[in-house]
Amino acid sequence: MKSSVHLLSLGCAKNLVDSEVMLGTLLKAGHTIEPNQADADVVIINTCGFLESSRKESVEAILEANQVHSIKPGQKLLVAGCMAQRFATDLQKELPEVSAFIGINEVPRIHEIIEEIAVGPQRSAVSNRPAPKDTPHSGHLKSQISNLKSFVSRKPTYLYDFATPRYQLTPSHYAYIKVGEGCNHPCAFCSIPIMRGRHRSRTIDDVEAEARALVANGVKELLLISQDTTYFGKDLGVADGLSRLLTRLNAIEGDFWIRILYTHPAHWNERVMETIAASPKVCRYIDMPLQHMDDAMLMKMRRETSRAHIENIIARSRAIVPGIAIRTTFIVGFPGETDVHFETLLQSVKDARFERLGVFEYSKESGTLAGRMESQVPTRTKKARYNKLMAAQQKISAELMASRVGKTLRILVDKDGKKLIGRTESDAPDIDGRVRLKGKGWQAGEFQQAKITASTEYDLVAEPAEKLLAASF
Ligand code: SF4
Repeated sequence: MKSSVHLLSLGCAKNLVDSEVMLGTLLKAGHTIEPNQADADVVIINTCGFLESSRKESVEAILEANQVHSIKPGQKLLVAGCMAQRFATDLQKELPEVSAFIGINEVPRIHEIIEEIAVGPQRSAVSNRPAPKDTPHSGHLKSQISNLKSFVSRKPTYLYDFATPRYQLTPSHYAYIKVGEGCNHPCAFCSIPIMRGRHRSRTIDDVEAEARALVANGVKELLLISQDTTYFGKDLGVADGLSRLLTRLNAIEGDFWIRILYTHPAHWNERVMETIAASPKVCRYIDMPLQHMDDAMLMKMRRETSRAHIENIIARSRAIVPGIAIRTTFIVGFPGETDVHFETLLQSVKDARFERLGVFEYSKESGTLAGRMESQVPTRTKKARYNKLMAAQQKISAELMASRVGKTLRILVDKDGKKLIGRTESDAPDIDGRVRLKGKGWQAGEFQQAKITASTEYDLVAEPAEKLLAASF
């Protein structure tokens, strides 16, 4: 029996690729995609389980999806993604509305699962109760166990390949390529290895085949993602895996960008930097979450790196790849963080002048080493440190943006709803700044020359360079 399926994808780009694989697999099996949730036979919520806040968002999305249930009796509600992978047992008790929970390994057989539950019993009666005060482990909502199913294997090992059907959910001109999955790092605050398993890489041939197909399809930007993209190939015994991959992808015919996301400082080396410098298609852009800059904190976070190593990466990458933009993120309020540790971080940020920077307040996560640590930092202290670091970065960013006024930059034009916006080589989709476009002649999905006429703290303003050029004659 074929179903119409509506999918809501939450969380990170890696989860989005899983959503694309699920939809591609369902289409290949003859099911259809239903844009309107209320009209779908099956609703899939692909959840995020990384932080308390993202789990809350996932549970609210599940309950909201259930509210819609009353419109289409018999509709099935499936929960996939990291939260299902880790908390299916608890969630079964707390969310009887759900027809089935699906783990990471079950992504490629989503069609079989839908066909299996399609013939299954009705879901338990609708309940419009509020989201649980606290996500899994709450247990305060005693409800009858319905006949729902759990398709979750304990050890996540799945990773798609070139032959896997995918239904692109990003705008047609850019696409994520998941080059690896899982993570072998022991970061004390992170639960991702619990949900995504050990690191596993695809082969260079396999990734190249996918990239060729996407470029042939008109994709203008390939975003390479995994939990640690700099670890690419190491598990397969491939030396300099990322450099080799970049060289291969750069050799593909066509006019497109290659962007590297989610790298780890411990695995950066000059070989990768030199490859970026020698590969015109590879964006001069590094996304490298650093989390902290104080050695005592880096040690306590189990980040397997040091301030000296990080400072060397920054200096060498800026020397080897002139004009490179560095994006990073930091955590403030990690257990045991003192004013002195924080001042080290703050001063490092002022010295390094990162082009793009995000800050997170430490979130205590069950199942992580840091979640069991003493000396948790009070919320108001976290907030104060967050504000201080963001204020310092806002000033730096405004100066860096202002230094680009008057320049002509190559941008890729995106659509934001009805509005056209631009992104330079230094701007990844959804997480970085943008170029606000003035004037006419901008085309979505195209590379165009933009004359920067003004700037704000995080964004640039531009006119079409061509028009200005013509006007100057
Ligand atoms: S590198 Fe650290 S923070 Fe990133 S996914 Fe792995 S364990 Fe988590």
